[in-house]
Amino acid sequence: MSKKRDYHLPSLKDAGRRSREEVSVETFSLSDEAKKLGEGKTYYIRTHGCQANQRDSETMAGILEAMSYRAAQKPEEADVILINTCAIRQNAEERVYGEIGALKRLKKEKKDLIIGVGGCMSQEEESVKTLVEKYPQVDIIFGTHNITSLPALLESVVKEKKRKVEVFSRQGEIYEEVPVTRFASHKAWVNVMYGCDKFCTYCIVPYTRGKERSRRKEDILLEVQDLLKEGYQEVCLLGQNVNAYGKDLKDPDGFGGLLEEVAKTGIPRIRFMTSHPWDFDDRMIEAMKKYDNLMPYIHLPLQSGDDEILRKMNRRYTSESYRELFDKLRRELPHYAFTTDIIVGFPNESEEAFQRTLDMVDHCRYDNAFTFIFSPRIGTPAARMEDSVPMSVKEDRLQILNEKIAFYAKEANKKFEGRDVDVLVDGLSKRNSSVYSGYTPENKLVNFKGKDIHIGDIVRVHIDEAMSFSLNGTAIEKDPLF
Ligand code: SF4
Repeated sequence: MSKKRDYHLPSLKDAGRRSREEVSVETFSLSDEAKKLGEGKTYYIRTHGCQANQRDSETMAGILEAMSYRAAQKPEEADVILINTCAIRQNAEERVYGEIGALKRLKKEKKDLIIGVGGCMSQEEESVKTLVEKYPQVDIIFGTHNITSLPALLESVVKEKKRKVEVFSRQGEIYEEVPVTRFASHKAWVNVMYGCDKFCTYCIVPYTRGKERSRRKEDILLEVQDLLKEGYQEVCLLGQNVNAYGKDLKDPDGFGGLLEEVAKTGIPRIRFMTSHPWDFDDRMIEAMKKYDNLMPYIHLPLQSGDDEILRKMNRRYTSESYRELFDKLRRELPHYAFTTDIIVGFPNESEEAFQRTLDMVDHCRYDNAFTFIFSPRIGTPAARMEDSVPMSVKEDRLQILNEKIAFYAKEANKKFEGRDVDVLVDGLSKRNSSVYSGYTPENKLVNFKGKDIHIGDIVRVHIDEAMSFSLNGTAIEKDPLF
């Protein structure tokens, strides 16, 4: 591998710029040569991070299969290994470096093995430098905006036997007709928009994923209709900031209008991820009240219950406006379940500020929450903020918070005891292969006993017992006369 820098480093500064230019919509295509490149060869993809990454990996798999590569069961059997990375927290990055380090041995044994690193880490200048300087086993580094360049990158690595780095620090475009290999046959991710313009001060996503750009409604609906025809039971509409959908298209119906159109397709279950309180409007509530196939579950990130911290986070809402929205949702949608995200130990978070977060949790009594200790990301404003709170205090706060979350989670789950619920089956439980697992409309994980049950079935289950973060039950046998 050449040591001369023959690539451009990504720039967070460029990636953080926003213009009013219209987003271009491109159509993906493959040359005849690219379609044959993978004949007789296999690929393996390891995915880290959020649902957007899971969906991107499905696109990578789709592109590779369109190039005639076939899926391998293990990295040891693959000719191409792609690692789709996450940059949201430092420990996620460290895990990735450990994994790439371990691939060195495989590369030694198999000289033609191609290792590619994509995802959010590839959008960061420091990570790209580290990958190039310390991990010579990596052949391709490609950014979140460069997935559609995979065929060209693979072709040149095969021909030139030289490392390729392609990371655009731009605001991004939209590609349609990109091949996709879905990893599940009953639930599907559907991207409705990409990027984020909110610039929360702790978050790297607006830099790694580009500006907010919505897909055309007709393209989304076509995708959902196709999934319905293929027998999918559930779609999850994805966006970093999903309820900002349509703002860039000047669509007055926004995300609420999209929810309604997707509901009309008749697909049995619809979810969406992740909504921002600031963009949550009445049009969405209206749609949710109207359609039963919009699942009764909302993830509404809080992050902090303290106004000063919220201001420093640039969250665009106050504790009061969050509380008002939350109360309205509880009032209008009383059968809904609510979860949230909370960060503890944001720079200089005082004891009082933390207490206000606990107070908000007491008020909202969430069904569950994803809780994290603040992790500074290089290049974001929060990483430059002074912080006098010791890590041991942050860890204690996380524990206190988690105990409270577990208490309310159990309280919410208790209400399900003795009830019969519909569970969309994911398969056998990962922890106990003698029971099945799946989710209720409220997104409650259910482990249950039963027989002759298949992935993708919607099964009526009697809930016997509530745990803090799951429910245990028994499938209700169907009356043979019906
Ligand atoms: S809205 Fe979400 S994705 Fe966007 S900057 Fe804030 S935390 Fe990051």
